Amino acid sequence: AKVTRLAPSPTGFIHLGNLYGAFVDERLAHQSEGVFMLRIEDTDEKRKVEGAVETIISSLEYFGLKFDEGAGIEGEIGNYGPYFQSNRGKIYQCVAKYLVEQGRAYPCFCTEEELEETRKKQTEENVNTGYYGKWAKDRNLTLEEVQEKLARGEEFVIRFMSMGTEEGTFEIDDAIRGHLTIHENYQDIVILKTNGIPTYHFAHVVDDHLMRVTHVVRGEEWLSTLPIHYEIFTTLGWDTPVYCHTAHLMKMDNGAKRKLSKRKDPELGLGFYMDLGYHPAAVREYLLTILNSNYEEWRIENPDSHTDNFKFALEKMSNSGALFDLDKLNNISKDVLLKFAAEDIFNFMLDWAKAHKTEITNVLSKHKEDVIKLLNVGRNGDKPRKDLMYCQQIFEFISYFFDEYFDVVDNYPENINDEEAKKLLKAYLETYDHSDDQSQWFDKIRIIAQDNGYAAKPKDYKKNPEMYKGHVGDVSSVIRIAVIGRATSPDVWELQQIMGEEKVRNRIEKAIN
Ligand code: GLU
Repeated sequence: AKVTRLAPSPTGFIHLGNLYGAFVDERLAHQSEGVFMLRIEDTDEKRKVEGAVETIISSLEYFGLKFDEGAGIEGEIGNYGPYFQSNRGKIYQCVAKYLVEQGRAYPCFCTEEELEETRKKQTEENVNTGYYGKWAKDRNLTLEEVQEKLARGEEFVIRFMSMGTEEGTFEIDDAIRGHLTIHENYQDIVILKTNGIPTYHFAHVVDDHLMRVTHVVRGEEWLSTLPIHYEIFTTLGWDTPVYCHTAHLMKMDNGAKRKLSKRKDPELGLGFYMDLGYHPAAVREYLLTILNSNYEEWRIENPDSHTDNFKFALEKMSNSGALFDLDKLNNISKDVLLKFAAEDIFNFMLDWAKAHKTEITNVLSKHKEDVIKLLNVGRNGDKPRKDLMYCQQIFEFISYFFDEYFDVVDNYPENINDEEAKKLLKAYLETYDHSDDQSQWFDKIRIIAQDNGYAAKPKDYKKNPEMYKGHVGDVSSVIRIAVIGRATSPDVWELQQIMGEEKVRNRIEKAIN
C-alpha cells in the first residue's frame, strides 16, 4: 500500500498543478489500497487565507478526489497528525535539536550584512557554493562562543550541516523521470528560522517521515533541492520515500512554450472550471491524458477513463513540460459528455446553476423534461451531437428555448432582406402543421422555396444560379433564425417538436410583425 499526500500552502489559490499532482497521488494511493492525505503547509503566516483549507477540500472533491486522512478531514483513519504544520512546531524543534546534538546542525548568528558580504565575495571569486564550507563561518563555533552569543541575545537560525557527496553530484531514480544525476552545490540550508519556524526543506522531510509517506509527488521545481532533502533523511537514519517529480504545465504562447502563470492565465485556477461548469470527469480525463506521454494511445487504451476504473502507471507519465491546451480540453469534454445520459447532464447543470448562476435555476427546473429532450437532440442519431462542452456554454446553446432568454443573434442570409424574409415566414406560418413529420415538413419548405423563386434543391441552384433568388437552404435559414435566433443549430424540425406549436407560432409571428 502506498501513502501519498497533497501538501499545499493555504494561499486560497488552488490551481491545475495541484490537481494534476493530486490525481497522481490519489491513483497511487487508491490503486494500492493505500492512503491519500492532506497536509497543510502553513508555516508562512503571510500567505494564509481564511477558508483556504475548505476550498482545497471542496475543489478536489468537485474533481472526484477524496482524502482519506488529514487536515480538515472528518473521520481521520490514521493518527499521524497534526496535519497543519503550524501545529507541529515542537516536533520540528525536537528533530532539529537532535541534529544539533549529532553535530549535524548548528546555530548560525550571521547577520544579513554578513551574508551579503559572503555573497559578494563569492561573486568576486566566481563561486556559487551557497553558505557552505569555508564560507560558513559559524559552522565551527565552539560551545563557549555559542553560549556567549546566546547570552548576548544575538539572533540565530539553525542550519543543517551538509557534507555533500565526494563527487559533488547526486544520483537518484525518480519514478517519473528515471535515473537522474543532479549537480548540486550542497549548502548549509536554514532548517529553523529565527522565530523557530521550520523551512519547507526541513518540515516536509520530518512530516513525510512521521506521516509514513511512501511516495512524494511534487513539481519539478523541487528537483534542484532534492539532494539536500535526501541528505536530511539519511542523516536522520530515515528511509527515503519514492520521488515522483511532475513536469510543469506549459502553454503555447506566440509560438513559444511557457509555464502557465497565475497572472496571465485564468485557466490555471480550478475556480475557472468550476465557474464555467466543466464536468469534473472531462477535466479529470484531460489531465490524465496530458499526464501521459502518448495522449492518443492512452485514450484508446482507456475507454473507461471517465470512471475510476482505468489503468494508471507512473512510467507512462510525460517528463517534459506537459502542454496545456484549452481547445483540446473542450474537445475531450464533448466526448466525455456524450458518455453521460442527458438527464445526468441536466442534473449536473442544475447543481452548477444553483452554485454559480442562480438566476437560471427556475427556468431549468421548470422545463426539466424539455431541456433533457433538447440535450438529447442528435445524440443517438447517426451524427452524434458533439457540441456540449460545459454548463455555461450548454446553457447559451439551449437558451433560445426559454422565452426569457430568447434573442436573435444572427442575421438572415445576405440575399434575403427583411421584407423578403417576412414574406417567406408568412408562407411558412400558413402551411405550418405541428403534426407534420420531418419529411412532410421539409416538403412544405421546398414548396415555399419554389413558389418564391428559390431552387428547391441547392444542386439546381448551383447549375443555374441566375434563374433563382437563392435556394431552399436560404429559406430554412430564415425559419431557423426566426424560431431559434441563430444561423446554426441542430435539426430545426426536431427542436420545434420540443418547443411545442404555440412557441413556434409565437416566434414566427414576432418575426413577421
Ligand atoms: N507546499 C509545497 C508547495 O506547495 C509542497 C511541495 C510538496 O509537495 O512537497 O509547493
